[in-house]
Amino acid sequence: MNKVILYLRVSSKEQVEGSSLETQLDMCRRYAIDNGYDVVEVFTEKGESAKTADRTELKFLLEYVAKNKDIFGVIVYKVDRLARNTLDHASLKMFFNKYNVRLISATENLEDTSVGRLIENQLAGFAQFDNDIRTERSQNGMIAAMKAGRYVWKAPKGYVNTGGKGKSNLALDKPELVKKIHLIWELIDTGYTQEEARKEIANRGLTISKSQFNRMLRNKTYMGVIEKFGLSVIGDFKPIVEPELFLRVLDKLDRKAKKIPIYRVNNPDFPLRNFIVHTTCNDGLTASWSTGNGGKYAYYRCKRCKKINYNKDGDEGLETKFTNYLRNYHYKDELKELMLKAIEVNWEDRNKNNQKRVDEIESEISKLKILNKEIVGKNLRNVISDQLAKEMTTENEQKIVELELKLHTQQSTLDDVMKVSEHSLSLLEDISGVWSRIDIDIKKRFQNFLFPQRLPFDGANFRTAQTAYCISQNVIALAQKSSNVPAEGFEPPTNRLERECSIR
Ligand SMILES: [Zn+2]
Repeated sequence: MNKVILYLRVSSKEQVEGSSLETQLDMCRRYAIDNGYDVVEVFTEKGESAKTADRTELKFLLEYVAKNKDIFGVIVYKVDRLARNTLDHASLKMFFNKYNVRLISATENLEDTSVGRLIENQLAGFAQFDNDIRTERSQNGMIAAMKAGRYVWKAPKGYVNTGGKGKSNLALDKPELVKKIHLIWELIDTGYTQEEARKEIANRGLTISKSQFNRMLRNKTYMGVIEKFGLSVIGDFKPIVEPELFLRVLDKLDRKAKKIPIYRVNNPDFPLRNFIVHTTCNDGLTASWSTGNGGKYAYYRCKRCKKINYNKDGDEGLETKFTNYLRNYHYKDELKELMLKAIEVNWEDRNKNNQKRVDEIESEISKLKILNKEIVGKNLRNVISDQLAKEMTTENEQKIVELELKLHTQQSTLDDVMKVSEHSLSLLEDISGVWSRIDIDIKKRFQNFLFPQRLPFDGANFRTAQTAYCISQNVIALAQKSSNVPAEGFEPPTNRLERECSIR
């Protein structure tokens, strides 16, 4: 049986919130059983920093892998449990590759092929880069304001923005509304389910959509805390719900959520489900198979207005339209250059030792050459016999050839790295082609990465959407667009930051 190791990690924050450790263990064990693996060791990292260098259990794991040569793989709950950035990820992968150990994710599909690895690495790289740039650009000012307790985003239901610059920006809305919102937590605390509470509040005249309701219950603003950018700060505004009540309800919801059986939510037949948004309804499209006219047909449809009803495939199919639409986008050139530069710098940095090694080999070679000259000299002076001199020089010549070969491989590595990188970037350049080729799980991650706010569709055309920083529209496509798309554009369903933060 194939031996595997489990690696689990929870941050101290996740630990305090009572989440995830058992879930991770459960999922990983289940995955091992389902795939016929034998779990021989479990490494659990608790409350340690995300920095790879600081993790003791990870170090033990690496030692274990190095010592036991018969390990088939390491199972993690998610790859981000193992490494938080591309560099760490790459070095861990190299380590595992060296010992022929596979990295297996219990919840993600890491295709272990060269293309799969390439895409996985590039995605991680792009995602991190995109994220870093955005973070640098927009968050500094907000973080400063937030640290002072100021709420600088759009007010959630029950609050209003007061707009005062430099001071508190959040005040309670009308008392009757605040009361209704408080009632939500009271109801759930006394045993109402989330949906029952939502209906009860609707009966009292406050209609909230399911998804918004779900987000509200998890929005700590209601207990007077601002929780964004991975920070938690007590706000300078009044809470609507007492913190104890808020946390009690949150705990209840989370425990309930855990009992939901895990199944594959990503139906490979419909990658665009819930990603394409009908502009009229601001709701993600659903999809299904239906039978009729003696065949089976795949459709995308808007679950609200039922007006959008699109074939999945075919010339006019939604997926064809989408792949055509992707052809309007390209990676920004300056970013490609930056990526290559980053790879180069990164490589040089990590290979400072390489130059040392080259110097060592070169000096070894010159020593051997001097030695040979000396042997020839001694032979000429009849100090050593012809036979011995020949044996000794031949041996040294062989050593020199080996060393020169070594030297060559050491020196050609940077060239190789750059060639591979350029090639992989050129592969990725065909955004549409990449999307068509990759597996469903990566596909969904890829499209959500390209269009973080999903992609609005008015029934005939895709509308302008927020895109990842690293891509932009082709100039020709932009010119065509302005002539056939109505000017008012697209209103995102919620404020961008609010959405982003609610995901975190
Ligand atoms: Zn609709």
